[in-house]
Amino acid sequence: MRQPSKLLNQLTPTSSTEVSLRLDDRPREGCGVVGVSGLDSASESAFLSLYALQHRGQEAAGIFTFDEDGPHVLKGEGLVGDVFDKWSIRKLVGRTAVGHVRYSTAGGNDLDNVQPIIARYSHGNIALAHNGNLTNHFDLRKRLVDEGAIFRTTSDSETLVHLIAKSRHDSIDAQVDDALTHLEGAYSIVLAIDDVIYAARDPRGFRPLVLGKKEKGHIVVSETCALDILGAEFVRDIEPGEVIKIVDGSVQKLRSLPSADQPAPCIFELVYFARPDSRISGVSVDRARRAFGRHLAREHPVEADAVIAVPDSANSAALGFAECSGIPFELGMLRNHYIGRTFINPSQQDRDFGARMKYNPVREVVEGKSVVVVDDSLVRGTTSLSLVRMLRQSGATKVHFRIGSPPVRWPCFYGIDMPTKRELIGSTLSVPEIEKKLGVDSLGYLSLEGMLEAVAETGPYCTACFSGTYPAPLVDVDKGFVSEQGPATC
Ligand code: AMP
Repeated sequence: MRQPSKLLNQLTPTSSTEVSLRLDDRPREGCGVVGVSGLDSASESAFLSLYALQHRGQEAAGIFTFDEDGPHVLKGEGLVGDVFDKWSIRKLVGRTAVGHVRYSTAGGNDLDNVQPIIARYSHGNIALAHNGNLTNHFDLRKRLVDEGAIFRTTSDSETLVHLIAKSRHDSIDAQVDDALTHLEGAYSIVLAIDDVIYAARDPRGFRPLVLGKKEKGHIVVSETCALDILGAEFVRDIEPGEVIKIVDGSVQKLRSLPSADQPAPCIFELVYFARPDSRISGVSVDRARRAFGRHLAREHPVEADAVIAVPDSANSAALGFAECSGIPFELGMLRNHYIGRTFINPSQQDRDFGARMKYNPVREVVEGKSVVVVDDSLVRGTTSLSLVRMLRQSGATKVHFRIGSPPVRWPCFYGIDMPTKRELIGSTLSVPEIEKKLGVDSLGYLSLEGMLEAVAETGPYCTACFSGTYPAPLVDVDKGFVSEQGPATC
């Protein structure tokens, strides 16, 4: 018999400084997941993977491990490096681990919602890490609550835990399988039941999930950059609709969920979200962004002295733009990477303060120059507005803005944390109106056709935020549980 759940202390928030102003009040996004099986010190591998996946969520982090003494868990708010240290990692013993970094896209951001979600049911201890948003979460939740389920979190992910626990199948494999068939929307999931890992990707494959191998173990992670940090070998993507099981490092294909009409991995992962050193669905994120930049240069040519990127997410697109236009790429804008939870005196705030904390133009590069600024996307338009003012203050004679994706006009229901439709600048203003509002000399967006052409060798993709075409049914919207303006985000 396994021992009952023996949870380590849950950490209190780790930063001693106070949060008086959220420096980056732009939307944040989804999550990163990791599962490790068959490696000694699995928690160390999970920790390093989460470190590499930090860009996918900065709000909280958690790791579950399992050994003969039972489960061990540590979760906390903050960055991976704040939540864990080498001593706490050592206490997470076992050859099986599940880890998660999150910024809440569904549910609140208190500790109960920090993943992995932990529960104990008749067949063992469950630890669940989920990336994506279910589009039938409220519908399922209502049904489960009506049947007597008591939810501990407000997270959509907990629904799966209840579905597994109440499945009438005898084997755990069949219970997991059965539970997954109820889900609609976006889910890349890593789940441990005691020391067995399950990994699943929804039939459209909205969010990435890849399998890696190291020594006698296997690792499942959101992005390949998390394999690189471990020195693990990339094996393959988990296919859309695929469910695998890993027992002490050996992988079994469990089954495929009923396939969707066609896969629809999120193109915004390539535009902004994923790290450029990752490969997603067989595409190098860096190469895709460069191709976006080259297409952009062809669609919106301009005469200028320098191409500068809004670092870091637009670096690759700006290089592509420079390559195709022949205009030299310059490091004209710097980004501070060390902005944490900082105390800021309200008197220090002005309209550009948030952007100035994060970005600073290099006067020597921009002064007296006509510059093309390449950004990967425009969301609310607030950062760009500040950047344009800052560049002019630093002496730029002309500021042309080029965006390596089409206007974001529609909310995301599949796990990218976007503001509501009415807050999206591309949804409320036309391109000439945006050009005027930003105060730029010219503005050009990459067209949807150009974007798809740039990655024509792969796909099809979900382009919902640009096109308004949603590949997976929006059950909760249709039933009135969620506003069509977009899911509530924290
Ligand atoms: P905004 O000033 O609101 O238009 O934000 C545009 C900037 O936000 C761009 O530089 C993008 O790199 C970045 N961005 C795009 N999508 C997101 C997102 N979902 N969360 C956070 N930042 C984003």
